[in-house]
Amino acid sequence: MKTWLVSRCLLGEPCRYDGRAKGNDRVLTLVAEGKIRVVPVCPECDGGLPTPRTPSEIQGGDGADVLRGAARVMSVDGEDRTEAFVLGARLAVETARREGAQGALLKAKSPSCGIGRIYDGSFTGTLREGDGVAAAALRAAGLPIHSETDFPEEI
Ligand code: SF4
Repeated sequence: MKTWLVSRCLLGEPCRYDGRAKGNDRVLTLVAEGKIRVVPVCPECDGGLPTPRTPSEIQGGDGADVLRGAARVMSVDGEDRTEAFVLGARLAVETARREGAQGALLKAKSPSCGIGRIYDGSFTGTLREGDGVAAAALRAAGLPIHSETDFPEEI
């Protein structure tokens, strides 16, 4: 059985910024059928942010830029949350290595977990290309990453 790192909100845990979950039927079915071993992570919570919290977006780049110190993660009310996002990303990579994860299933469009498309930092609902901070760190660590919108057929 393969081990996957999975965004906790996709598992139905109410850890999103708004205190809600985003349980995903396919993930929950895979878990219920015992098809995958799941290692749950919430990089924003693991980095020390509370739930609920005001929304955050990356300003000045994407997750990879944040990791190299060239962009910041800001809350809508002007709080710099870069440190918590970077810590949560590093912990996700450490957890993946420790648990022998073969891949990660991550929540789309999140400033932490988003893959390929994230909000652009303007808090207007506008998307741009790029990964969230944890997704970028996991990608850089060589882990295959997928969102709930592009699960592989074989998992
Ligand atoms: Fe879900 Fe990831 Fe946001 Fe946590 S950081 S609430 S796991 S999308």
